[in-house]
Amino acid sequence: MSKNYLFSLTITPIQSFIAQAKTTKDFYSGSQIISNLIQELLKQFPCKDDIIFPASNSIISNKIIARIAIEKQEELIEKLQKTMKAFLPLKALCNGMELKSKSPELQQLENVFQLFYSSVEITGYKESYFEVEKNLSIIKNMRLFNQISSKNICYVCGERESFCQDKNEKNRCTVCYTKSRYESESYLSTAGIASLYYRQKLDNTLYERYKENFYHFDEALLYEENLKEDYLKKHHHLNNKNIEEIKKQLQSLSKEKPTKQYVLINFDGDNIGKILSNGLDNIGKILSNGLDNIELETFHREFSTKLSTFSQAVNKIISDEKGRVIYSGGDDFLCFVTPYYLNEVLDQIKESFENNVNTYQEKISYSIAITISHYKAPLHKIIENSRALLKATKAKYSSKSKLIKGGIGIEVYSSSSLLAKFIGDYNEFTLLKQFDGKKINLYSLEQLFSFAKSDMQYSEYLLIINMIKLELKRFLGRREIGFSDDEVAKIQQLLIAQVNRNYSIDLDNFFGFFKTVEQLSKDNNE
Ligand SMILES: [Zn+2]
Repeated sequence: MSKNYLFSLTITPIQSFIAQAKTTKDFYSGSQIISNLIQELLKQFPCKDDIIFPASNSIISNKIIARIAIEKQEELIEKLQKTMKAFLPLKALCNGMELKSKSPELQQLENVFQLFYSSVEITGYKESYFEVEKNLSIIKNMRLFNQISSKNICYVCGERESFCQDKNEKNRCTVCYTKSRYESESYLSTAGIASLYYRQKLDNTLYERYKENFYHFDEALLYEENLKEDYLKKHHHLNNKNIEEIKKQLQSLSKEKPTKQYVLINFDGDNIGKILSNGLDNIGKILSNGLDNIELETFHREFSTKLSTFSQAVNKIISDEKGRVIYSGGDDFLCFVTPYYLNEVLDQIKESFENNVNTYQEKISYSIAITISHYKAPLHKIIENSRALLKATKAKYSSKSKLIKGGIGIEVYSSSSLLAKFIGDYNEFTLLKQFDGKKINLYSLEQLFSFAKSDMQYSEYLLIINMIKLELKRFLGRREIGFSDDEVAKIQQLLIAQVNRNYSIDLDNFFGFFKTVEQLSKDNNE
C-alpha cells in the first residue's frame, strides 16, 4: 500500500489582492479571480474525496487540506505551480492583451501569486495536521517582498510598475489592468448598490426611457447632484442635450429620492484556527487537550461541510435585490448591502450561522464590521477602514487567553469623513434598533455629560459613573424620546455596561453610540 501524506496548501495574497481596488469593478474582479483560481487549483487534485478543506469548490478558502498518496505528490505540485503561474496570463490574453515571452509585463502576471505548501507523512492525523500547519506558517513568514523603485507605479495597487492605461487614462500594472477588464458577473457601482431599493420601485418603461438620455448610463445619474454639464461631459456622453429636461424626467421617475448610502459588511467567525487545531467537545467547548487522531479528521470533515453550507446560505441571503457578495469563504465573508435591507440581512445571517455552523450548546462567536458609506467616498479607503474596524472589534472582545468573544462594530462615513463609530457586543448592538426613529439631541447630550472624562482616579471614577447613571436615566426618560420606564431601565443598564469597562470610562464609544443613532435616523438622500 502506498504511503499517505497530509498536504496543506495556501496561496497569497488573497485579502490584500482583493482589497487593491479603486472601483467596485476592481473589487469584484479581484474576488472573482481568486475564486476561479482556487477552483482551478482544486481541479488538479487526483481525487475529490481526498480534499478535507474546503468541502465545496464554490467558496474562497485560503486553505486547502487534503490526503495525498506519496507517488502522486510530485506531479500534483508541478500541476499546481503551472496552473497558478499561467492563470492570470491566460485571462489577460483572452482580454486581448499582448504579452511577449519573458517580458516584464508577463512576469508581473506570472508572479503575483505565491503558493505555499507543506506535506508530511500521516502517522496520526492530529500530529500530521499540527506539523503541516506549523511548517506552513514558518514558510509563509519567510516569503520575500520585492520592493521596486520605479517612478511609474500602478495607481491601484501602488506596488507594481505600471505598463498600461485604463479607460480613465490612469496608470495600471498588468495585474490591475487585467482586473479592470476581467469579466465579473453582475457587479454594481457603489451608487448602484445605494440605489437598489429605489430602483426596484421604478416603472420599468419610464426608467429605460430615462437611461436613453445617456450613451454611458450608470446609477450615479439617478442623483440630481450629478446632472451637471462638467460631470456629464467627463463621464457620460449625452444623447439628450437639455439638462433641465433630463432633471424633470428624473423627478418624474419617483416621488422619492434614492438613498446615497451603501453598506459594506465584513463578517469573520472567531477563534476558527483554534477550533480547527483542538476540536470541539459535545457541547461546543474548545478542547484543551484536543481530539485524538481519527476524531480530529472526522471533526474537520464535518466542520468543513458546515462552513461551506453556511457560505452557500450567505450567497442566497444576499440576493441580487439586496446587494452583492464579494467573497464568501465559509468562516468569513464580505458583501455589499443596500441600507433598506441591512437589518433583515443581519438577522438572516445570524440565523443561518446558528443553524448551519453553531449547532452546539456553547456558541461559536463571530465578529462583524458594518460600514455605512456615502457612494462617493473613495472605495479603497472604505475597504481599508472596514478591515481596521473588524480588527478593532475583535481586539475589544478578546480575552487574556486570546479567545475572542464576538462583537459588532459600525462606522458611518460621509463622502469625505467619518461621522460616527460604535463598537458593542450583540446586546448593545440590538439597542441601536430600539432607538430606531427616536430623535436624539446630541448637543444637549454632550452638554449634559460635559462633567465626564475618561482619565481619572478611582474615587473620581465612582462618582462620575454614578452621575452618568443618573443623567442617563433622566435623559432617556424625556417624554420626547418616548421610552417606557421599563425600557429606560434596561437601556440604562446596557449603556452603563458599555461605558464602564474595567474601571475606566470609554466616553468616545458612549457618544459614538448616540452619534450612530443620529446618523441611522437621518434621511440619507439629502
Ligand atoms: Zn497594480
